Amino acid sequence: MIDSEPYRERLHLALEAAGMDLWENDLISGEVTHRVSRILSDLGYDSQESLAYMDDLFALVHPGDLARVRAAIAEHLDGRTRQYRCEFRRRSRDGAWVWYANYGKIMTLAEPAGRRFIGVTFNIDDRKRREEEISAANYKLAEQNRELDRMNAILQTLATTDALTGLANRRSLFEMGEKECRRAQRQTQPLSLLIVDIDHFKCVNDTWGHPAGDRVICAVADRCRKRFRSDIDLVARIGGEEFAILLPATGYTDAWRLAQWLCESVAEQPISLASDIVTSCSVSIGVATLAADREITPDCAARFSQLLAEADSAMYRAKAAGRNQIQGAEGAPP
Ligand code: GH3
Ligand code: MG
Ligand code: MG
Repeated sequence: MIDSEPYRERLHLALEAAGMDLWENDLISGEVTHRVSRILSDLGYDSQESLAYMDDLFALVHPGDLARVRAAIAEHLDGRTRQYRCEFRRRSRDGAWVWYANYGKIMTLAEPAGRRFIGVTFNIDDRKRREEEISAANYKLAEQNRELDRMNAILQTLATTDALTGLANRRSLFEMGEKECRRAQRQTQPLSLLIVDIDHFKCVNDTWGHPAGDRVICAVADRCRKRFRSDIDLVARIGGEEFAILLPATGYTDAWRLAQWLCESVAEQPISLASDIVTSCSVSIGVATLAADREITPDCAARFSQLLAEADSAMYRAKAAGRNQIQGAEGAPP
């Protein structure tokens, strides 16, 4: 049946219809026993081309794919794969690379003298190109997503940071304030807030100019940053020359002591405005604390606003009492 002419013709037509080409090699001698004619002609080679040995065929394989082709054959030879399957590029006569799939099998039932390695090959160039296009598009998309993440991170920083001092801004103070209020309530911890305002700052601007005023703001910001716990406390610039310092798990007495340190430290700090101009400034500070045992409230945003108002009015009392000092709802601790 297999040798019958109708069968051969049917096989030939089926391969033709499927766009496949039949190949057969002798693995012992390395000879090509049935060469792919259709594919060679598609690639621009004529039938006179000397492609008598498997090595001649390997010479047409893309150098980047050759190791994979040899490995797939070796795996099948070793019995690790039931079928030889490989996808690789062949060079056409004009130098272009074209993708093919190769499926084959070693026919061990064949005559013992040589091992028949038989299979089919077919063009998968369109599919590969589409895959490459999709993968390039995916790569581009991933790159754009990375860029978007980067831009979002920058936007997030811009939205929560004060540009002049690099401190948190008013918006992040309110966000963190509400969160910390909730946490303090949950953990039965106190939460303190300092409002720090530079005294007679308008005089700095009026005397030395606006850029000098900015330098004074930055110098006070540095002082504020210095003593506080960078990963726990939040130091924010909430107005022109006004700062807020949120102190989680800190009671009134400790908050007052920190305010005292800051007040003295700012007053002692010389601020250089130009090579021959050195000035100094002072701050007034208001202290307010949410006690650990206070009444629990579900509206932590409102509770934080109330804390801010208390600290703010304490700061104004410090101004009224002569500036360069601290005031708080509970007075000076013993
Ligand atoms: P007080 O002791 O009562 O706080 O007096 P003050 O002069 O510090 O307060 P006042 O509110 O009268 O003035 C604050 C000034 O801060 C007015 C404004 O022009 C200035 N200012 C606000 N933002 C900035 C800024 O970003 N840079 C500079 N250089 N000045 C600013
Ligand atoms: Mg001021
Ligand atoms: Mg002010």
